[in-house]
Amino acid sequence: MKFDLNNTVFNTISDILQETQQEAYLIGGYVRDIILKRPSKDVDIVIVGSGIELAKKTAKKLSNKIKVSYFKNFGTAMFNYKGIEYEFVGARKESYDRSSRKPIVENGTLQDDQNRRDLTINALGISLKKENFGQLIDPFNGLQDIDNKKICTPLDPDITFSDDPLRMMRAIRFASQLDFKIDEKTLSSIAKNKLRIKIISQERIIDELHKIVLSPVPSVGFQLLFDVGLLEIIFPELYALRGVETINGVSHKDNFLHTILVLDNISKKTDNLWLRWAAVFHDIGKPRSKKFKNNIWTFHAHDFIGKKMIPPIFRRMKLPMNEKMKYIQKLVLLHLRPIALSSSVVTDSAVRRLLFDAGNETDDLMTLCEADITSSKEYKVKKFLNNFAIVRQKLKEVEEKDSIRNWQPPIDGLEIMKILNLPPSRAVGEIKDAIKEAILDGKIENNYDAAYKFMMEMVEK
Ligand code: ATP
Repeated sequence: MKFDLNNTVFNTISDILQETQQEAYLIGGYVRDIILKRPSKDVDIVIVGSGIELAKKTAKKLSNKIKVSYFKNFGTAMFNYKGIEYEFVGARKESYDRSSRKPIVENGTLQDDQNRRDLTINALGISLKKENFGQLIDPFNGLQDIDNKKICTPLDPDITFSDDPLRMMRAIRFASQLDFKIDEKTLSSIAKNKLRIKIISQERIIDELHKIVLSPVPSVGFQLLFDVGLLEIIFPELYALRGVETINGVSHKDNFLHTILVLDNISKKTDNLWLRWAAVFHDIGKPRSKKFKNNIWTFHAHDFIGKKMIPPIFRRMKLPMNEKMKYIQKLVLLHLRPIALSSSVVTDSAVRRLLFDAGNETDDLMTLCEADITSSKEYKVKKFLNNFAIVRQKLKEVEEKDSIRNWQPPIDGLEIMKILNLPPSRAVGEIKDAIKEAILDGKIENNYDAAYKFMMEMVEK
């Protein structure tokens, strides 16, 4: 198979190769994405020889303005040309030591370089030599695997995965991103080598998890992680949601399956990585709150417990412990509140309170709640969605009237101290809270004069 490559950089490389009598190839993900017609931002080029030299020569021939950056230690060089990153590397042969994923590297042939790739679909090359410019070099039938939507390693999977266990995560990530099936032998090898994941840094693992969370149907990736036993190792709190328990013939739902379904639901509505992660975490507190009493299963306070569980999980998994974490904690803590608002009689003050507590996250919270409906009965889904539509309407009306999102009570702590001549103390906090509560409850109007009057009356009392 031959590709019609219409690209100034590739033509320039081809001219250089003819002068130097060398061979170089487009390789890996870029080739895969051409075949899949997926957009790609970076191009990998492998040369049998020095990647740094080829990069410098190519850049010079293209224009004298291009800045080449290179890493001598890795023998790689790259430059940006018209918004695309071109990365050059010498073909390499790798051998591994069991304790690390850092290989011993030697110069090698194209075949050596293709052998060290993770998956057949990522091991395709396209020649840039003049004689066979555009020719596909496909020693492992990667093209056929793309056609058959199959994930498979180029060599014996036990060797590929044991050499670099990150490849197990990559295999699952690609299956999830591309909706491909993992070949049976490859899949059972992942299960067999799962403990090797422990030599992989948490940063790399979380990178792959982000890509799974962002894939079109993320449950594919999470179900695979579960099936091969990796989830239990890398995310035991999510794994703990699995299973159905039955007492006296009363069962609860499988909260792992529910969670990944919620994640799929929300992924149809948003590409916001953190909102998707909020779906992953929304019921994380359930196993710790589960009780069977009066013949029913309850998960009381799983919202609160879930919120508390998040920081240690974020720390361990190297997720960011910043405003993103706080955002997810907020959504987890509040995810049951809109349900309470969906009953037919609901006061403005309850709506005002939710708006106050959720603030800017109100819309995301509603999106999470809608995704949380996973009943298999269509009429139920319809009913609940309809209830939430009513909640959204109520939220809109109250917000238009009272502007509660991002609202601050009209008198703050400093003013209370000044007016009442008080030192910083608990009393100041209590007065401030009482004003806030009175406004949220609709007892007084939301303005300075009403708050001042209310405060003075309170002090008198
Ligand atoms: P994406 O850009 O979506 O992450 P990609 O396949 O382009 O996909 P890169 O990480 O840029 O991913 O890797 C480029 C190529 O390098 C891959 O296509 C693959 O051939 C090879 N590669 C990357 N990581 C590994 C690995 N851990 N083991 C073996 N080969 C790898």
